[in-house]
Amino acid sequence: MGYTNSKLVNYTRISPNRTSGRTCIDTITIHCVVGQCSVETLGTLFAAPSKRASSNYGIGYDGRVGMYVEEKDRSWCTSSTYNDNRAITIEVASDTTEPLAVRQAAYDKLILLVTDICKRNGIKKLVWSNNKNERMNHLNGCNMTVHRDYANKSCPGTWLYERMGQIAAAVNAQLGPEPWEKWSDGEWRYKNPETGEYVADMWVESGRNLWYYIGPDGKMVHGGLTFVHECKGLNNAGGDAGAFPAGWFYFQPDNENGCLGMMKTGNITIAKSTTDKVQGFNTAVFSEAHNGHFGACVSVNGKAVKDYTELP
Ligand SMILES: [Zn+2]
Repeated sequence: MGYTNSKLVNYTRISPNRTSGRTCIDTITIHCVVGQCSVETLGTLFAAPSKRASSNYGIGYDGRVGMYVEEKDRSWCTSSTYNDNRAITIEVASDTTEPLAVRQAAYDKLILLVTDICKRNGIKKLVWSNNKNERMNHLNGCNMTVHRDYANKSCPGTWLYERMGQIAAAVNAQLGPEPWEKWSDGEWRYKNPETGEYVADMWVESGRNLWYYIGPDGKMVHGGLTFVHECKGLNNAGGDAGAFPAGWFYFQPDNENGCLGMMKTGNITIAKSTTDKVQGFNTAVFSEAHNGHFGACVSVNGKAVKDYTELP
């Protein structure tokens, strides 16, 4: 699975205090810095190997975003390898005294950042629980944890702790309803998130810049090479993504991981693929130049289709 990073980042300083690789991304852990510092100050702190601490992201007092450990790697943030292997950790600038309050600009950016993380990593809904056992064991869909569960600390402080439910609600309002449905016929259909109507003969973008083609019959096209005539596309928010050119597209079977590319008419060039699983086209030239004009049917909202929970 390909990991990405947030485009909301204003400042990057990768910390040596990290471990390469991670298990997955299915959890959000929000911390408080205990200091109204900038992302640069946080970067300096995490740059010291002796600190043995880091976070994936930090939000300064002014709402700017720093990245210290890429999402593909594990930060050393929550006193728990288990948690940090699956969580994106975010340090938020806060007061130094209880309730360790966070400024409005930082809070507002936190909502945007967490929403972005969820969208890119296929987290469809953020679920908070006031029950420590539910948090630590991810029960009842809970996918938010806090530092105090794993160490004798007050982190994330009273102010943020009391707002976790509110943060989840604000993020979920941004995430919107789940647009994908797998019907009993085994076929995937897609609802425009804005109108709630099923789409047909249309490309839809579903996070991570992966594109899927919904055929004229309203079913997601998968498995093999298909010619798609010129049609329009929907972006992740349900908006107009413009016209897509006609051409041959190669679609992966929906139970295989990977990405697939558009084969342009005429010159037989695969526009993009991130895997050698696109059999038979291994000698083709792959280019990022056609970004946005390639399709995928191997994952839904960032999750492999085989791992996707079927809707009732
Ligand atoms: Zn913490």
